[in-house]
Amino acid sequence: MIRIIDRHGKAPKLPSESQLTRWFWQGLGDGLFQSTRCRECDRISFPPRPDCPNCLASNMEWTSLTRRGTIYTTTLIRAVPTPFIESAPLPVGVIDLEDGVRLLCWLVEGAGRLPLDSTVEIVTLRYEDGCLFGAAPIAMVPLL
Ligand SMILES: [Zn+2]
Repeated sequence: MIRIIDRHGKAPKLPSESQLTRWFWQGLGDGLFQSTRCRECDRISFPPRPDCPNCLASNMEWTSLTRRGTIYTTTLIRAVPTPFIESAPLPVGVIDLEDGVRLLCWLVEGAGRLPLDSTVEIVTLRYEDGCLFGAAPIAMVPLL
C-alpha cells in the first residue's frame, strides 16, 4: 500500500484510460501501486504493458511495485502544459524504484528540493475527480 495524499479540487489533468491501464488507475485510488510482470522472463514493465519489452512475450501478470525508490535526476518545468499552469514551476523527477523500475513522475511535498539519490516514496494524489501519483519524501512514522 502506498500513502494517499488528499488534494483539494479537481486534478490538473487526468490520464486517458485504456482497458489495460484502468486497473492501474483504479488501484491507485485504493493505495495500490501496480504494473505488469512478464511470466516468461520475470521483467517488470512500467507503465503496464500487454507485451514484454524484453522478450516480446504476451504472457503478463499484474504485480505490486515497491513504493520506495531513489531520485536519479530532477528538473523544474517552467513552460508547463495549460492544465498545470497553477502548479508551475513543476518539479518532476526520474525515480529508480527498489524493484528495478525507472519512472518519471511529479515531485510533491518538497521532494523537488531533495538532493539526487535521496530516498522517496511513491504516493497517490487523490483529487475530487480522480487520482494521480507522485514521489514524496519518506513520511516520518512515529515510533511506538
Ligand atoms: Zn519477458
